[in-house]
Amino acid sequence: MDALDSALKIEERLVMKATLAHIPLGGTFELLPLCNMNCHMCFIRLSREEMDLRGSLRSVEEWLEIARQMKESGTLFVLLTGGEPFLYPGFLDLYQGLKKLGMIITINTNGTLITPQIAAALGKDKPRRVNITLYGASNQTYERLCHYPNGFDQTCKGIELLLEQKIDIKLNGTIVPENVHEIDALFEIAKHYGLYIKMDTYMYPSSRERLHPFHPESRLSPKEAAQAALKIKKHQMSQEEYTAYQNHMLNHPSLPNQDSSIQCRAGKSAFWINWYGDMTSCIFMKKPGINVFENGFEKSWKYLLENTSKIQLTGCLSCTKKSVCQVCAACMYCECGCFDQKPDYMCQYTDELIKQLEDMK
Ligand code: SF4
Ligand code: SF4
Ligand code: SF4
Repeated sequence: MDALDSALKIEERLVMKATLAHIPLGGTFELLPLCNMNCHMCFIRLSREEMDLRGSLRSVEEWLEIARQMKESGTLFVLLTGGEPFLYPGFLDLYQGLKKLGMIITINTNGTLITPQIAAALGKDKPRRVNITLYGASNQTYERLCHYPNGFDQTCKGIELLLEQKIDIKLNGTIVPENVHEIDALFEIAKHYGLYIKMDTYMYPSSRERLHPFHPESRLSPKEAAQAALKIKKHQMSQEEYTAYQNHMLNHPSLPNQDSSIQCRAGKSAFWINWYGDMTSCIFMKKPGINVFENGFEKSWKYLLENTSKIQLTGCLSCTKKSVCQVCAACMYCECGCFDQKPDYMCQYTDELIKQLEDMK
């Protein structure tokens, strides 16, 4: 076992203990809804005018005060995100302030705004990791999907600047109609830089901040999403692992799992604070929510714990495919607006995965 493996094992154990003990171990600061790109499927981005109509950004000192309170409650991991977090005024001051508090920081970014100065500042006191989302493998795709013509070149430049500083990077990708033809190329890019890439093919139908509803055409159909998911697995898994996955999917238990509680860390050891201060258990769920700047962290965490534990995901109670389906509370909430209905898209996606795996046998 190398040092990274053992660090991950320690972290997993910490997360497990915190989840059982209801300690708010990890939180996200969604610093702002502004972004230099404008992706079709984005559910957070607002123009400056739209943002000004809803509220104003919280200052570095306000975030640090919340972080001090979080630390007293047991928080160790902080994810900084946006919008695009490098557009947040005072980003580096906040970063350095959080580091002084002893927080272990991850940054989510589109990678296009990383300058030599930012990379050098991060290199001096490194984050745990920078997660860079790759929206495609060419400038043409960035233009079509993100309305940002040189986005691909700029993202690659950002990756290179961080690598020069020996900063740990993970690549993320969401596969949508505009980039589904570039899955192989995305893996090539990850290989070129020697980085791990995680690609999702399920998109939550959220339009959290935006005034318009979610556009179904901005995501793949369940059949296309399942096809893309299996293609990605073939890239990521050895033949042996793929066969084990296939067996797992095709031989799921025939009795339904009656546990209808939330299975992830949301509202048990993890929380999300949006740019105007609403603290929720997960990025996709508006409720339960409480303004942390008005109520303080400890009171807000207690409120989240109590109210998240009341959520029962009864929509899938009688389903025998739950153990092979990636349904979660946010999926139900975004697909159905409640927790007591089956999310049709996810049912079709799961059925497609099973069918396509069966056809491959
Ligand atoms: S880069 Fe991210 S935050 Fe910016 S518009 Fe695209 S999805 Fe939204
Ligand atoms: S997206 Fe789903 S799995 Fe992830 S934190 Fe939210 S509810 Fe949990
Ligand atoms: S989303 Fe559909 S397939 Fe998945 S567990 Fe619920 S009912 Fe079953």
